Amino acid sequence: MEFDYLIVGAGLYGCTFAHVMRQSGKSCLIIDKRQHIGGNTYCKNEGGIQVHQYGAHIFHTSDEGIWQFVNRFVHFKPFINSPIAKYYNQTYPLPFNMNTFKALWGVTNAVDAQAIIKEQTSRYAVVRPSNLKEQALATVGEDVYEKLIRHYTEKQWGMKCEELPAFLIKRIPLRFTFDNNYFDDTYQGIPSGGYNVLTSGLIGNTEVRLGVDYFKHKDELNAMANQVVYTGKIDAFFNYQFGELQYRSLRFDHQLLNDISDFQGNAVINHTSPDVAYTRVVEHKHFESVICNHTVVSYEYPQRYVKGEEAYYPINDEKNNALYQQYKVLANENPKVIFGGRLAEYKYYDMHQVIAAALTKAKKQLS
Ligand SMILES: Cc1cc2nc3c(=O)[nH]c(=O)nc-3n(C[C@H](O)[C@H](O)[C@H](O)COP(=O)(O)OP(=O)(O)OC[C@H]3O[C@@H](n4cnc5c(N)ncnc54)[C@H](O)[C@@H]3O)c2cc1C
Repeated sequence: MEFDYLIVGAGLYGCTFAHVMRQSGKSCLIIDKRQHIGGNTYCKNEGGIQVHQYGAHIFHTSDEGIWQFVNRFVHFKPFINSPIAKYYNQTYPLPFNMNTFKALWGVTNAVDAQAIIKEQTSRYAVVRPSNLKEQALATVGEDVYEKLIRHYTEKQWGMKCEELPAFLIKRIPLRFTFDNNYFDDTYQGIPSGGYNVLTSGLIGNTEVRLGVDYFKHKDELNAMANQVVYTGKIDAFFNYQFGELQYRSLRFDHQLLNDISDFQGNAVINHTSPDVAYTRVVEHKHFESVICNHTVVSYEYPQRYVKGEEAYYPINDEKNNALYQQYKVLANENPKVIFGGRLAEYKYYDMHQVIAAALTKAKKQLS
């Protein structure tokens, strides 16, 4: 065998796993079917602006160990994610907090805001909400639901809120302080120079082959390593023998705007009205406060997932979770292959979580 590990996928899971193994003197070969490393964290440099090619990525964690780990590879610029919601021509600060309530109702203190929410939610109190609409109305009331939740959610999932399960928004955090910081985590930031600095640091001098689809060269690749770490879709690995897992997909329209130094005045704007098909517009220069006279904006259009295209969000409803469990049984019976990461575990992972999962798995291998 040429390598100890063949790692399928150069995303954060694969890169982190490779790093631990390299540190322990093990040899790895990383392959990816894309033409770049980094998986969904990949950034493209557009004249000094790091453009997040697969959607805005903000690093946040309360895990001190993970924060220290990533800071060994790249300096993180402090960044507080404070998205804005745009509903027709009105803007509202997010997450739902006193600044949102002031913009909605003109209230300037928590007691008045709570009284309005109580009055609105009491009209929709239900013991067991049967869908997302009922869940939202009973938790936040009609104004927040109508202007900030309803159409955004319907665009995101391509279904009416009445048809969506309540569990999708089980918790809708309401903050009664003037605080637009989206995340509650202790640490938050954006890697200086983009995520590629982090992923190439993790990879180090490990051999990487890009533009290589595992399934097209499976036997030959398997024969090169003692073990395989597979971070692609689990149903694809088992040739969809029990059926296809469902996902929600996205299309990104990246636009370079010359001679415009600032397009929207904020990194992320959520479009919560039904007049536009996109859900978010991201202006990348604001992540690192880049000063230059051009800008890049990305429009995010939620899409139906079609096999063979990019799978973004797993649809973790009962039906899909049960199907995943069937594949997981097969995965557990396969001692040569380690299944890890968002696609192989059919799970929405944030970056800090996927790094933690890969570190744990790699260390377990070595113990
Ligand atoms: C729109 C969006 C926004 C996000 N924003 C945030 C955020 O703000 N903060 C945060 O913490 N997290 C965010 N995330 C989550 C983050 O992207 C993931 O945690 C992380 O990318 C998962 O890493 P991974 O290695 O599991 O998967 P991936 O990054 O998907 O990497 C898997 C790799 O495997 C490759 N691959 C698959 N099949 C094959 C094959 N057959 N042969 C060869 N290669 C293959 C793929 O090409 C891919 O490069 C976001 C996710 C999305 C979709």
